[in-house]
Amino acid sequence: MTTQRTLAIVKPDAVAKRVAGQIVTRIENAGFTIVALKLIHMSLDEARGFYIVHRERPFYQSLCEFMTQGPCLLMVLEADNAIQRWRDLMGATDPAKAAPGTIRRDFASSIEANAVHGSDSPESAAVEIPYFFSSLELCPR
Ligand code: GDP
Repeated sequence: MTTQRTLAIVKPDAVAKRVAGQIVTRIENAGFTIVALKLIHMSLDEARGFYIVHRERPFYQSLCEFMTQGPCLLMVLEADNAIQRWRDLMGATDPAKAAPGTIRRDFASSIEANAVHGSDSPESAAVEIPYFFSSLELCPR
């Protein structure tokens, strides 16, 4: 397996709960390299653009508003098989269905306020990473 990069977001619910540090610790302990990291408070337009693939879903407006409630911690993670490994660490979308020991099981509040985001494919990561980070912000470049 070749090295992959994925976009990870600690969503506003988890930043507000002050568990962003615990989530970063889990990421580091799992062996990911953090190649970029920043805190941003998204505008509604930025959230709408990020979640554009979900525009037809009934929860699109609510999801976009949730993502603007407060700052998010954005990261680019690098590892072998990073996309699947980060999704495994996150757990299922619905925290009630997430496996014990996963981030969503331990920190999510609801299916919407579910603590973290991860790219779901190499194609998504290739769109999501440059949506938030310029190439100059990735270390090593
Ligand atoms: P993910 O890849 O596990 O993040 O899940 P999806 O791509 O299916 O959904 C994107 C995000 O939309 C999720 O992480 C949730 O924040 C939110 N979401 C997903 N399903 C629902 C739902 O049924 N209701 C609401 N309100 N939000 C949802």
